[in-house]
Amino acid sequence: MERLSLTEIRRQLQKGAFSAEEITKFYLSRIERLDPKVRAYLTVTPEEALAQAREADRLRAQGEDRPLLGVPVSVKDNICTRGLRTTCASKILEDFVPPYDATVVERLKAAGAVILGKTNLDEFAMGSSTENSAFFPTRNPWDLERVPGGSSGGSAAAVAAGLCAGSLGSDTGGSIRQPASFGGVVGFKPTYGRVSRYGLVAFASSLDQIGPLTRTVEDAALLLQVVGGPDPRDSTSYPEPQPHYLEVLAKPVSKAKFGLPREAWGEGLSEEVRSVLESVFKVVEDLGGELKEISLPHLAYALPAYYIIAPAEASSNLARYDGVKYGFRAEGGSLIEMYKKTRSQGFGREVKRRIMLGTYALSAGYYEAYYGKASQVRTLIKRDFERAFEEVDLILTPVSPTPAFKLGEKTQDPLQMYLSDVYTIPVNLAGLPALSLPAGYTGGGLPVGLQIIAPAFSESLLLAQAYALEKALALDLGPPSLED
Ligand code: GLN
Repeated sequence: MERLSLTEIRRQLQKGAFSAEEITKFYLSRIERLDPKVRAYLTVTPEEALAQAREADRLRAQGEDRPLLGVPVSVKDNICTRGLRTTCASKILEDFVPPYDATVVERLKAAGAVILGKTNLDEFAMGSSTENSAFFPTRNPWDLERVPGGSSGGSAAAVAAGLCAGSLGSDTGGSIRQPASFGGVVGFKPTYGRVSRYGLVAFASSLDQIGPLTRTVEDAALLLQVVGGPDPRDSTSYPEPQPHYLEVLAKPVSKAKFGLPREAWGEGLSEEVRSVLESVFKVVEDLGGELKEISLPHLAYALPAYYIIAPAEASSNLARYDGVKYGFRAEGGSLIEMYKKTRSQGFGREVKRRIMLGTYALSAGYYEAYYGKASQVRTLIKRDFERAFEEVDLILTPVSPTPAFKLGEKTQDPLQMYLSDVYTIPVNLAGLPALSLPAGYTGGGLPVGLQIIAPAFSESLLLAQAYALEKALALDLGPPSLED
């Protein structure tokens, strides 16, 4: 049962092969047995989940069907859930219980989904390994000594380990795609604006985007269909209705031209990742795809620009955690002392580092030199992609330069950690949709993802090509055995 995709679970529920209550109990008992090893969840909600499952069964008995009726999923813990604590894996929000649901959660519920719990992340989604969680790191189900990636590491590990049928994560610089690559699951960051950010705890508002982590491309299409689309509560939400992704997948796939940016396939890429990904090129060509070398000349500047823009926006967004309105408050003498103590004790090291970097970059006299310059670089990167998409339909790059690394390997060296997002960050700066597709395994048995990037709002094209490639690759995606 743990191998079933979300779409298959949906079909089995429709056929009555099992009930929502049965599949929910199955996942809950698996979580109880195996999550102590993986630690994907920060909060599990068995009672609420079972109540939602019984309600789904009741509706189905009345002849109702909805896109996710009775399907058990999880949600990253920086997405607000009404009445259910939403911590962002931070001490400062340890006891924060939102009074409202994020739009995506509201839509999951309206579609009939069962929410099993909230998944672990790097504090405020800042990190690439889930080791920055204030509570505990999550482990990679393929090798428990390794990181699951981050920041949506809990979501990726939960899907990879068969501890939910699908999950929602968030991606500001790679946080859906990189953990998907490390976990052998599909991770899809939609175009900026495709999915409402209402109720997503803000990290860098001009980059943040919610998206699905799933076992298959079809599942990603279904989850996006449910949570995406216009939302008047998010002013950056794209006003056009979404295409019908599943109908697109049902049609034969067209031949496409794929660009291989020479800047992304050069030095810095580990040989084990390269050899897995290059073996996919042949499959692309067998499907009638054409491969073409292209150039994204400003790619090397994406990482430095991101590490100005993202911390700058974060420093502003995180100013609201002052011990007054939400969550943790340290007792102090004066008001100013209370602010200082609350923020010193409430935030972890990486979050403080970003707040300091960002505050500096935005300070008087430096704004133009840092934030202004980084914004110009961002425009150059966006133009690079626009030019490339005049020549090709889609772009292929690695997701991450290496497979999952060991816990502790990069925690002492933030720059090394930042570098693991070198291929994913440009996509956020340009606001484009991109998907991490499981492409194969290294000799050591670690999954490797291929990044497929599409023009803005071309999710249908991207999903259709990824779906065809997934079928042709026909990989066995586990889950790996975690039983003793
Ligand atoms: N690893 C990147 C960072 O730490 C991206 C994180 C994200 O996408 N949320 O900023």
